[in-house]
Amino acid sequence: MSKIGVIGAGTMGQGIAQAFAAAGNQVTVCDIKIEWAQNGINKIGAKLDKLVSRGKIAEDAANSIKANLTAGESDYSGLADVDFVVEAVLEQVKVKQDLFKTLDGICKDSTIFCSNTSSLSITEIANGVKHEVIGMHFFNPADRMKLVEVISGENTPVETKEAIIECSKSLGKTPVEVAEGPGFVVNRILIPMINEACFIYQEGLASV
Ligand code: NAD
Repeated sequence: MSKIGVIGAGTMGQGIAQAFAAAGNQVTVCDIKIEWAQNGINKIGAKLDKLVSRGKIAEDAANSIKANLTAGESDYSGLADVDFVVEAVLEQVKVKQDLFKTLDGICKDSTIFCSNTSSLSITEIANGVKHEVIGMHFFNPADRMKLVEVISGENTPVETKEAIIECSKSLGKTPVEVAEGPGFVVNRILIPMINEACFIYQEGLASV
């Protein structure tokens, strides 16, 4: 069991928090306001209730996932002793960098900072950050999708990468080590494919 901080209680943060909580970890979810973090947790709860009512998950299992989720203060004071932080905030280098710099002054030295960025440079995000930073790229819906791209930046130690691969496996995920590059692997394939779909529509080769 590890202590986890998930920052950003939106689409990805909710799925990531649920994945960690379902694997028995204690998860503190933070957002710009504690109410927004609690709102994200409430949405996870509502999804779990639906699954229980459909007989897809036992009530006990749903309750233990819910019990592992706590909303944290927006000053991140509840994240001092977490083992991993996974950020799923706005897709902007400066926002992610500033967040990690703030957490530098709060988290214990051994905390690993993970970014769920879809496409940004981990090396750039880590610039000026004291803690080890690594990409831990989940896919939507993160509580169900198995793939996790693990992206080291220029200064990410091998031990950090190994820790995140083990951590991903402990969630029942399939981690794949990916070199740093725009869009990593999945989005590098996906985005041109989506563009082609638009061109096909534009050229009238198919209609919807
Ligand atoms: P979202 O808009 O649903 O959620 C973002 C959350 O972060 C919001 O709740 C917002 O209030 C919060 N937030 C923004 N800035 C913050 C800050 N400075 N401090 C704390 N909280 C802050 O976005 P999302 O779709 O969950 O995407 C989040 C990240 O995950 C992005 O980096 C995105 O590229 C990446 N990602 C998204 C997907 C996807 O399919 N949506 C898949 C993989 C990765």
